[in-house]
Amino acid sequence: MHEDRITVLGVPFHSLGMDGAVEKIAGFIISGRLHQVVTANPEMVMAALEDGELLQILSRAELVVADGMGIIWAARRLGTPLPERVPGVELAAAALALAAGNGYRVYLLGGAPGVAADAARRLRLKYPGLEIVGVQHGYFTAAEEDGVVAKIAAASPHILLVGLGMSKQEKWIHRHREELKVPVSIGVGGSLDVFAGRVQRAPACMCRLGLEWLYRLLVQPRRLFRMLALPKFVFKVLGEEKS
Ligand code: UDP
Repeated sequence: MHEDRITVLGVPFHSLGMDGAVEKIAGFIISGRLHQVVTANPEMVMAALEDGELLQILSRAELVVADGMGIIWAARRLGTPLPERVPGVELAAAALALAAGNGYRVYLLGGAPGVAADAARRLRLKYPGLEIVGVQHGYFTAAEEDGVVAKIAAASPHILLVGLGMSKQEKWIHRHREELKVPVSIGVGGSLDVFAGRVQRAPACMCRLGLEWLYRLLVQPRRLFRMLALPKFVFKVLGEEKS
């Protein structure tokens, strides 16, 4: 199994950087089959250790890339380096550029009411020709869920960006993949907030140093509790290394 993948604490990553990931997504669209794309960070790997359903989804996803320095560091420590980090927001932007350049239809799902619509408006200006065939906020009820899925399927996008937050979005994509019939579904976390201009990304210098997590913590202190996963991840990797 997974002979082309590099495993970090049980989660199999594809050994691809940004260009390779975009190439793979382009191939997915041409094939027309259904594909799930995951950008996994240390928080997600730690969550998968305790959540068998999530681990299984990550193992079956057609593309899993390393979102952040933590995964790159771990892969190197474990003696199986990955080429480079592929931040979720950058992969989402690259998929949008691919769509604009090739006439692929895109659907945006997630964020508070108004976020996906604002993101669509700004993205159409940024990527001329980009065809966004629908938007839906991420706070629909369980009773509305079937309607949301049917609406997306009817719009027939090539690419579906799902920003419902880590794990939730991966499970949502997996649960509905057959009804959605979308060739490429990508879990994008808070990227729609960034595209809508509601959340700023870290300054480029901090991203280069691998400190984007610190910036996010400073502007969104509520993330502190979640970020406690990071030191646990580091200890786990160091333990693995010795064993
Ligand atoms: N979100 C949503 N529905 C929910 C919970 C969250 O649409 O039920 C959105 C939220 O508005 C935000 C994104 O999911 O846009 C989660 O962002 P975060 O930066 O926390 O991403 P994560 O790190 O969890 O992937």
